[in-house]
Amino acid sequence: MFKTLGNLFGKLMATHVQLHASETCLECGSQLARDAGDNPLTAVWHCPNPDCPPQVLKRAALWASPEAMGIAGCDTALVTQLVNRGLVRDAAEFYRLKFAEIASLDGMDETKTRALWDAIAASKQREAWRVLFGLGIPNIGAAEAQALCKHVTTLEDLFAMGRERLLKLDGVTEVMARSVTHWYGDPVNRKLVKGLEKAGVNFKTKL
Ligand SMILES: [Zn+2]
Repeated sequence: MFKTLGNLFGKLMATHVQLHASETCLECGSQLARDAGDNPLTAVWHCPNPDCPPQVLKRAALWASPEAMGIAGCDTALVTQLVNRGLVRDAAEFYRLKFAEIASLDGMDETKTRALWDAIAASKQREAWRVLFGLGIPNIGAAEAQALCKHVTTLEDLFAMGRERLLKLDGVTEVMARSVTHWYGDPVNRKLVKGLEKAGVNFKTKL
């Protein structure tokens, strides 16, 4: 009985894995991937290409959202336009937008352009935890970002800490420490952090 069930389970798993292993991302054609160690029956499959258009859009929309940087008037429709036109590919590019580029977007008049221009500039002064949350680091939600920021005076200090030092901090879990160090270990992300700093986005946790 158990052997039969085991065989059946094994077969189901094999079918499931095969089914997904051959699937590619409908948006960019990349081979889908799943996190190592996950149960194949419950695993979440994802596109591993960071430049996949929906992922770029998702990251940009999170950055502008009221929960993160709160760029007033920058709703999903507007972010979609910015991403689709290649004007915004990461968070730092919001701060490199030219006035004329904003004015060229659909539905923009002088007043709306000025308002968005000012809203983007104003977002540079948000609390550091919002910046950290807005980066969209896996497993770092608003609460985790706030917990992490309590221990440092600037985000640079946080990123400079290795996994070991992060783990010693109160309220920082293994998953959080690993996520932050893994994310910052990617040169693309380090470049993004530099770009935000250069743009004048607030990194200080105590204003
Ligand atoms: Zn993709």
